[in-house]
Amino acid sequence: MSQLIELKVPDIGGHSNVDVIEVFVKPGDTIAKDDSLITLETDKATMEVPAEAAGVVKEVRITVGAKVSEGDVMVVLEAGSGASANPASAAVPAAEAAPAAPVVAPAAASHSGGADIECDVMVLGGGPGGYSAAFRAADLGLKVVLVERYATLGGVCLNVGCIPSKALLHNAAVIDEVKHLAANGIRFGEPDIDIDQLRAYKEQVIAKLTGGLAGMAKARKVQVVRGVGQFLDPHHLQVDATEGKGQDKTGARQVIGFRKAIIAAGSRVVNLPFIPQDPRIVDSTGALELRSIPKRMLIIGGGIIGLEMGTVYSTLGARLDVVEMLDGLMQGADRDLVRVWEKMNAHRFDNIMTGTKTVAVEAKEDGIYVTFEGAKAPKEPQRYDLVLVAAGRAPNGKLIGAENAGIAVTDRGFIEVDKQQRTNVPHIYAIGDIVGQPMLAHKAVHEGHVAAENCAGEKAFFDARVIPGVAYTDPEVAWVGVTEEQAKREGLRIEKGVFPWAASGRAIANGRDEGFTKLIFDADTHRIIGGGIVGTHAGDMIGEVCLAIEMGCDATDIGKTIHPHPTLGESIGMAAEVAHGSCTDLPPQRRK
Ligand code: FAD
Repeated sequence: MSQLIELKVPDIGGHSNVDVIEVFVKPGDTIAKDDSLITLETDKATMEVPAEAAGVVKEVRITVGAKVSEGDVMVVLEAGSGASANPASAAVPAAEAAPAAPVVAPAAASHSGGADIECDVMVLGGGPGGYSAAFRAADLGLKVVLVERYATLGGVCLNVGCIPSKALLHNAAVIDEVKHLAANGIRFGEPDIDIDQLRAYKEQVIAKLTGGLAGMAKARKVQVVRGVGQFLDPHHLQVDATEGKGQDKTGARQVIGFRKAIIAAGSRVVNLPFIPQDPRIVDSTGALELRSIPKRMLIIGGGIIGLEMGTVYSTLGARLDVVEMLDGLMQGADRDLVRVWEKMNAHRFDNIMTGTKTVAVEAKEDGIYVTFEGAKAPKEPQRYDLVLVAAGRAPNGKLIGAENAGIAVTDRGFIEVDKQQRTNVPHIYAIGDIVGQPMLAHKAVHEGHVAAENCAGEKAFFDARVIPGVAYTDPEVAWVGVTEEQAKREGLRIEKGVFPWAASGRAIANGRDEGFTKLIFDADTHRIIGGGIVGTHAGDMIGEVCLAIEMGCDATDIGKTIHPHPTLGESIGMAAEVAHGSCTDLPPQRRK
């Protein structure tokens, strides 16, 4: 039997008429006990109000901007027999309480044998999500086994992603920077590039970090088991031992028995079906191997990964073409930010083919011939010495025997989770690239901590308001939260503050004043909801904008925070002053 219950504002420390600044639920939502319903803000603090019961939201009685006091009704809930206020069932997560998920959960298998190793938590995958989850769970006192098929921990990020790409980008940036110095009267001549030594440097960086992870696993008594893991049932994982640099199986096999599990098996490169096998056609992993510097290089896919790798190869001497099906490069960021990058990088490219498709790729002796179709397609097939396929990544959800554990996996291979990172099988969690976009290491780490804390019996939620994105190109492009284009699309009323770096003492002193810092505020609440920075070190600075959004700052909070002078970071304070109308580093503004 279902019953309608009213969820009321609880005791809020004696405050009354408190501002509602966020409402997380809408009619039709299925919620679990303790899911956040609204955020309240007093002059001292903000607080999220959790649901006292699980069920389906029938009515939401408050809106953002309303003022509430203890006893006011927030939400009318239909608490069904399976999702009542009864504490035993109310604690069930949303995914379990309402199997309304679009993916169908398979019936779990049952492993009849025993286990070679028993643990509290088994973490599958040793990338940033997996090792962070494993370490956090161990720090919380749990016996943890971490299963990884490759020889080193760190996953894509440390071995073939974030870190090696930045090691190469750092060298490229220094080469470019040194070239800029010629304008100041300092000339070094052409760089003499020893590509083997550069590759060795990149390997050293990886080894230092992955070695550090192995040491930290040991210090925490996390047992690392090397091999390919496949679920046998909801409490057992079979591991086929691997050896060498890759995933060569040794033939040895063991079974791990676990009370709880965290799936962190990540993602893999998407291969385009019509592309032949040829050493001159590489994915991001192949490009990071830096075997040689081509004369002409094509990047298929105008996203961050392709453009970062293109920057490296171009600085080392390659001429670039890029082809992108959509109408612009670096999708996701506002176009005004991207335009600055485009202007500064035009010299690297012979052809920027947006709105264009790659339709055929043929490997011939003298090069890779590629045919294009669309807005900017050349008439003839083009010849390249190297083709980088950077057309996206696919999650590994269908490769881990998830069905044996009864875990639902979407057609595309993602595993759906609730805010506590729980899958449809309540004692099995999933994190990182395998649970969805954005596929970024910092998201995976935060999700890993949430899953580990829940495994340890804490009540943790992934409730980040925003996740930043950064292209570590030159200049860097960084953005977070609501973009201007998104605001236009969704009809959001915004105010913005833009500070051009042409007025930044530090940017001018650095000879790099092409960038700008933009902050976006909600026109009604005046709180910051987004921001973007283009310029050198933009990625290092965007964290302040993230913090401001998480803290619910307005332009005065940011503008009146004293930033050190002269720094690029100052531009964030000044962009806030522009929004507020109090900036004295620009010509006089219209009075607000
Ligand atoms: P992964 O890092 O993919 O780790 C998953 C691990 O699970 C792997 O080690 C894999 O071997 C293991 N595994 C999978 N299946 C099994 C199995 N059955 N048995 C045993 N082990 C298994 N992100 C950023 O935030 N910043 C960047 O600058 C950035 N740059 C990038 C550059 C490149 C070139 C690429 C490719 C990616 C980049 N990313 C970046 C993305 C980032 O690497 C990923 O988002 C991140 O690694 C995801 O972490 P994860 O723990 O979910 O999975």
